[in-house]
Amino acid sequence: MPSNAESAAFRSALEVIRAVEPRVADAIGAELADQRESLKLIASENYASPATLLAMGNWFSDKYAEGTVGRRFYAGCQNVDTVEALAAEHARELFGATYAYVQPHSGIDANLVAFWAILADRVESPALARAQARHVNDLTEQDWFALRRELGDQRMLGMSLDAGGHLTHGFRPNISGKMFDQRSYGTDPATGLVDYDKVAEAAREFRPLVLVAGYSAYPRKVNFRIMREIADSVGATFMVDMAHFAGLVAGKVFTGDFDPVPHAHIVTTTTHKSLRGPRGGMVLCGPELADQVDRGCPMVLGGPLPHVMAAKAVALAEARRPDFAGYARRIVDNAQALADGLLRRGATLVTGGTDNHLVLIDVTGYGLTGRQAEQALLDSGIVTNRNAVPQDANGAWYTSGIRIGTPALTTRGLGTAEMDGTAELIHTVLSQTSAGANPDGTASKAKYVLDPALADKVSRQAGELLAGFPLYPNVDLG
Ligand code: PLP
Repeated sequence: MPSNAESAAFRSALEVIRAVEPRVADAIGAELADQRESLKLIASENYASPATLLAMGNWFSDKYAEGTVGRRFYAGCQNVDTVEALAAEHARELFGATYAYVQPHSGIDANLVAFWAILADRVESPALARAQARHVNDLTEQDWFALRRELGDQRMLGMSLDAGGHLTHGFRPNISGKMFDQRSYGTDPATGLVDYDKVAEAAREFRPLVLVAGYSAYPRKVNFRIMREIADSVGATFMVDMAHFAGLVAGKVFTGDFDPVPHAHIVTTTTHKSLRGPRGGMVLCGPELADQVDRGCPMVLGGPLPHVMAAKAVALAEARRPDFAGYARRIVDNAQALADGLLRRGATLVTGGTDNHLVLIDVTGYGLTGRQAEQALLDSGIVTNRNAVPQDANGAWYTSGIRIGTPALTTRGLGTAEMDGTAELIHTVLSQTSAGANPDGTASKAKYVLDPALADKVSRQAGELLAGFPLYPNVDLG
């Protein structure tokens, strides 16, 4: 692709937008400049390709397309059918899945689709059969009331939040925690690793309808074969939320027992994290759940976003190219180099390292809360996010951890040598930051003291590290 084609495409788009609302055009340009300048270590972010970005800005945005490919509630969806079918085909081929549903607007939406599909399959369908009804509208008031109670009386077992689980895996502040009676499994306090015997014990005691695996902040692999055996032993449906590590599955870094697709009944994911697509979600499953999953819209989803499905098709086509496997491998190599660099400099890491795309630093070793560390790093041009660590004494708001991930910097082209430089910058900031005090002299969990000159110096060094790896090198907005 000649470099001027990408520049021309984005320049023209901005020109058209500027003619209507220049402040939006300015904000878009400023966002690119900010992304170019910051050392982005947010584990859940990436940089989508120009083709993926451009696939979203077009006439597909104007279409209503409720229904599924070939079975729409609106006329005139033939082109939407084309892109939805393409995205689904790429997803099936990429992940070796029997069925792919590419309509969810995000990871949370994909999880909701999966939960309702499981409830429909395991609770609603049997209730309809018992009542000899074909449809919920055919149930008597009494049977409908009984079914609603039964739907609300199901159990879910998932990873605890402080071990790295996600809020949507049955926690009370989320709708999933209001739908399900939830219990969670943690990690071994000594090793920080999932203890499968403990998961099996919890499953035996709790007898969940759904066993969930998947995480936002667990820096290790999960053995999905063992988790499936546990689910089978108690008759649970096994669901994996691979939102964070889908790129590592796509790139065949996670294979065999560590690839969720052959082991889970249903797999959900985002498309924008390590998979490097547009913001969105997806559900993969076998034929048993496919019909229920297809009802995602309008069951829990608003109308499909055909422009985003077009971008999903583009990004998934990219992920099927041979070079994506190299990218996925480099994500993990970089995370391990970052972890090694931090460990060598004396940092404490949850589980002592990583075998995926993320590293969790326990910043209490630096005398800081996660919030203080996050802000001090941000002052120094390093974008991360605070995160709870197992048995976190500082709670979910201040936390004791910093989560860092390598998908974005790896897309930019940084390698293991630069990861050591990154570890040096992080360690410098954290070791030179101290906790601040409240007006009454007590230790603050939010205030911190960092010499602004040091923050500036690290910011400049971060800029120098990035300078050799231009972001969107073929895009010049002039
Ligand atoms: N599932 C997991 C494991 C996640 O980490 C996240 C996002 O952080 C989500 C689901 C939600 O994804 P989204 O923000 O696209 O709804």
